[in-house]
Amino acid sequence: MKANCWIGKQDVRVETVADPKLLNERDAIVRVTSTAICGSDLHLYDGFVPTMESGDVLGHEFMGEIIEVGRGVQNLQKGDRVVVPFPIACGSCFTCQRGLFSVCENSNPNAWMAEKLWGHSPAGLFGYSHLLGGFAGGQAEYVRVPFADVGPLKIPEHLTDDQVLFLSDIFPTGYMGAEMCNIQPGDTIAVWGCGPVGQFAMKSAFLLGAERVIGIDRFPERLRMARERVGAETINYEEANPLPELKEMTGGRGPDACIDAVGMEAHTPGFVGAYDRAKQALMLETDRPNALREAIMACRNGGTVSVIGVYGGFIDKFPMGSMMNRSITIRTGQCHVHRYLKPLLERIQNGEIDPSFVITHHMPLSQAPEGYAMFKDKQDECIKVVLKPH
Ligand code: NAD
Ligand code: ZN
Ligand code: ZN
Repeated sequence: MKANCWIGKQDVRVETVADPKLLNERDAIVRVTSTAICGSDLHLYDGFVPTMESGDVLGHEFMGEIIEVGRGVQNLQKGDRVVVPFPIACGSCFTCQRGLFSVCENSNPNAWMAEKLWGHSPAGLFGYSHLLGGFAGGQAEYVRVPFADVGPLKIPEHLTDDQVLFLSDIFPTGYMGAEMCNIQPGDTIAVWGCGPVGQFAMKSAFLLGAERVIGIDRFPERLRMARERVGAETINYEEANPLPELKEMTGGRGPDACIDAVGMEAHTPGFVGAYDRAKQALMLETDRPNALREAIMACRNGGTVSVIGVYGGFIDKFPMGSMMNRSITIRTGQCHVHRYLKPLLERIQNGEIDPSFVITHHMPLSQAPEGYAMFKDKQDECIKVVLKPH
């Protein structure tokens, strides 16, 4: 089959690889009809996630048709149309039973690698390094889905791929980012990053009852989407410094909660940016955490900072004093996608949201390398790319 493979830093190629096979009773094989490129894929593309190997098949946002199921999968049949969550979860361990699917204790066969770096291992993820299981991803014609009796969600025929594909990751991720803010009536929520994840965090903040939502970015087309499609107010951080601006907009108090939807590759102008880039290049700091620093400093006393941007390792100049002295709560995590699938599918069916609004580009899988370059460099006002393998 054809699959989009990580070759090296900023080098992905569509190559012919072996077709996936059922390995375990609880596996299924999915024929992928739609798959997307995520901001998390850019961290792999830019070489910031360790333990990638040349030839690894990328992709963790995908959906398609079940073409084979193992004997242990009773709830799916050939021909079912499904969306697959990006974390792989067994459904029955200590953490899965508590709804913490992205930290499943049974799905990472390379747990020892993650334990070295992080103390304990989270779940395995599709197409996301050997540290997180070495699973082949879904930017491919076919993919093996482990624990297929737990993850995949069946999709009603009348909904299009574009409407439901993002249930695999970015809609639940944005939603969880907003949910972690414990939004109360009258709240103002600020969101760093108006990429696809930030858009869903902003939209979800409104769905959960926020009165005002403020999006922060520097790309006009992303800020425009936040205003026109989500109803947010915006700050272009190249035109105004977010900290004084947010104070001004909130009567001096600061937003009730701040969401970091940027992660480890934050763009950081000026001296601090040069400092972070140099330390990251020398491997003295793994991540560039400028959005997170700002989110903490901006948040009102006693507020919440919700971190859905992905971090890999260790960060520098972390404003712990600001957090501690001002009673800030931090909440974070890879999204526990499984728990949001049904409720968010319902919101799509009710017409409360049509997640396809973030899509700017459709391409055949064969153009994945162009898609990555375009998404990374924001060429042609690219916000979200959907790849079609067939
Ligand atoms: P993206 O790269 O399209 O969006 C990031 C946005 O942040 C860009 O628009 C960029 O201009 C903006 N940005 C960069 N520096 C900034 C700064 N200093 N201040 C404000 N904005 C800044 O990516 P995406 O697909 O929207 O993903 C965003 C993040 O969410 C990534 O880190 C990704 O890995 C993460 N993510 C996490 C989960 C999860 O489960 N927690 C799931 C999916 C994605
Ligand atoms: Zn993703
Ligand atoms: Zn589990």
